[in-house]
Amino acid sequence: MEVGHCQKSAPTPTPLPPDKRLGYAVVGLGHLALEEVLPALSNCKKSRLVALVSGSPEKMKKVALQYGISSENCYTYQTFDQLKNNASVNIIYIILPNGLHKEYVIKGAKAGKHILCEKPMANTVEECREMIAACKQAQVKLMVAYRIQFQPHNRKLREYIQQKTFGIPKYIEACNAQSTANVNHWRHNKALAGGGALPDIGLYCLNTTRFILDMEPTEVFAYQYSTPGNPLFKEVEELVSWQMRFPSGIIANCATDYDVHESRRYRVNCQKGWMNLDKAYAYKGQKLTTARAEGTLELQQEVEIAENNQFGAEMDHFSDCILNNRRPFTPGEEGLQDHIIMEAIYLSAKLGKPVQIPPADAAKWRGPEPKIS
Ligand code: NDP
Repeated sequence: MEVGHCQKSAPTPTPLPPDKRLGYAVVGLGHLALEEVLPALSNCKKSRLVALVSGSPEKMKKVALQYGISSENCYTYQTFDQLKNNASVNIIYIILPNGLHKEYVIKGAKAGKHILCEKPMANTVEECREMIAACKQAQVKLMVAYRIQFQPHNRKLREYIQQKTFGIPKYIEACNAQSTANVNHWRHNKALAGGGALPDIGLYCLNTTRFILDMEPTEVFAYQYSTPGNPLFKEVEELVSWQMRFPSGIIANCATDYDVHESRRYRVNCQKGWMNLDKAYAYKGQKLTTARAEGTLELQQEVEIAENNQFGAEMDHFSDCILNNRRPFTPGEEGLQDHIIMEAIYLSAKLGKPVQIPPADAAKWRGPEPKIS
């Protein structure tokens, strides 16, 4: 095993002065908001927290104190529409259960604010289309928070594919699985979650594969399973396993499950080697290993890359797009495409046969590549 040299040091940080950073209103103070997004905002270079929206007054009071947000910048779902009168709010970040994304994205757009929406974008293709149309009509930008597209190890692996460092990719194996235990959580409620493991965590395999290949699948074939009698899976599915066929002949074999020990990894098998990313979809701890055939030998390398804060990177990217009037790298259409593919996956599992995906080209909706420091 050969250990790769460290990357060059990152460029000198150049944060905007605080009063020039764009103001975020964070909607929904759940796990993701409290544990990841709010702390990340404190360290952003172009973004800052200016308002909170919550249905839990006691919790919001505590969080507001912690982050120095005054009571006039705290809203409930009932007073959400008043965000339109708050000039310090440039961006509304929707971190609610999936089934509520559409309603609040559309309300936010009508309030004249740019919108960052958590993944999955919504519950259905139809909802995604309505959200895109509402933002277009209100002339505000819409971005879906696909943090992996702002994560350095995943971006490096994509660069290796673009440069054919290990030859042409042929076959991808991807898995994102975890165990869930709380039967009362919204993730097990079809109306609030849209589906089970697939839109929640399987989506990472789907979106990241499309991202690293820079290609759209033409066909999917899927199986779905839920353990009979398990109350967790009364409304939403436990396991989905699916294949995606890409135009160049590449096949991606993906799986997701809500009732197995955590496993978040993928491997890209190429003509002259492979790239393996462990903890690929995690918040941190990614481990990129590559192997290259050299005659009869195989050279394995651990690629050391500095980690970043994926949430900070995606929020600063969105702020940058607004400051420079550019399309985001992951706009609403990126979320829509995943929903089109997920609906095809469910249909394939139901019919027991492959389902075609309409032709699409992400270059048509993506903005310029983000600069990740
Ligand atoms: P949580 O259940 O922890 O938080 C959701 C919050 O939404 C609640 O705390 C609550 O906040 C608010 N809420 C409003 N209405 C409801 C309702 N009817 N039922 C439940 N909660 C409600 O979820 P997460 O933070 O884990 O997930 C939120 C979103 O973020 C989802 O879309 C999820 O897919 C996405 N996510 C993305 C991740 C990523 O890495 N990008 C990781 C985890 C989640 P309040 O009390 O303040 O009103």
